[in-house]
Amino acid sequence: MQESSNKIHQLKTSNLSKDFGDVEVLRNISFSFNAGDSVAITGPSGSGKSTLLHIIGTIEEPTKGKVEINGTDPFQLSEPELARYRNSVIGFVFQDHHLLPQYSVLENVLIPTLAFKQNHNVTSLAQDLLKRVGLTHRMSHRPAELSGGERQRVAIARALINRPSILLCDEPTGNLDATTAGNITDLLFEMHSIEKNILIVVTHNLGLASRFQNNLRLADGVCSIETENIVDV
Ligand code: ADP
Ligand code: MG
Repeated sequence: MQESSNKIHQLKTSNLSKDFGDVEVLRNISFSFNAGDSVAITGPSGSGKSTLLHIIGTIEEPTKGKVEINGTDPFQLSEPELARYRNSVIGFVFQDHHLLPQYSVLENVLIPTLAFKQNHNVTSLAQDLLKRVGLTHRMSHRPAELSGGERQRVAIARALINRPSILLCDEPTGNLDATTAGNITDLLFEMHSIEKNILIVVTHNLGLASRFQNNLRLADGVCSIETENIVDV
């Protein structure tokens, strides 16, 4: 299991802004979410949804403002410390599954565990996750032998293998038909209720977005938040 020191209670941003050259993508974005919260990010194409996800995921630095995870700014860490931190705290699921074609389903799920020494039996955890996503019978198959929905299930299992406190999904159902998209979203919520992580999902689908406790809408660089919770910013 993950060390308790990696357990994240709060993800907060204060006046986050991001420019690419003279293009202002995000402006003064502030929010605060806690463990167990679910968040949908919506907005037109090019409104900065992926950029915001990359900043929260510490793979891109903000131009201005601050990210605080448990009260600490991750961008103050050295590059190796940040990589270790990211690997243990954050899970990513992308629109395209990003599975490695030459490896089996089980091996793909184990890939995020290879970077750092593990002190628990990761193979049995991977098998357990694959059971939970309904792919026990597919463990030794290659990604090319799976359907689109099955590949996204593998990607979700892979994103969860290090028990991340923050799960970031960038249009995870964007390439799937409506029924499969609904099933994948059900699965994300099921895992979220077990893991009690902060689940943040970018989606174009307003029907799916309405299932999240918090809705964060981006337009013209500015964000508005609708929430079922009182958000303490
Ligand atoms: P979304 O995910 O909402 O479609 P993005 O976050 O991908 O939007 O992009 C927001 C804007 O930032 C777009 O205008 C895009 O062209 C620009 N952008 C994103 N990444 C970069 C980059 N690395 N360099 C320059 N411009 C970028
Ligand atoms: Mg995007």
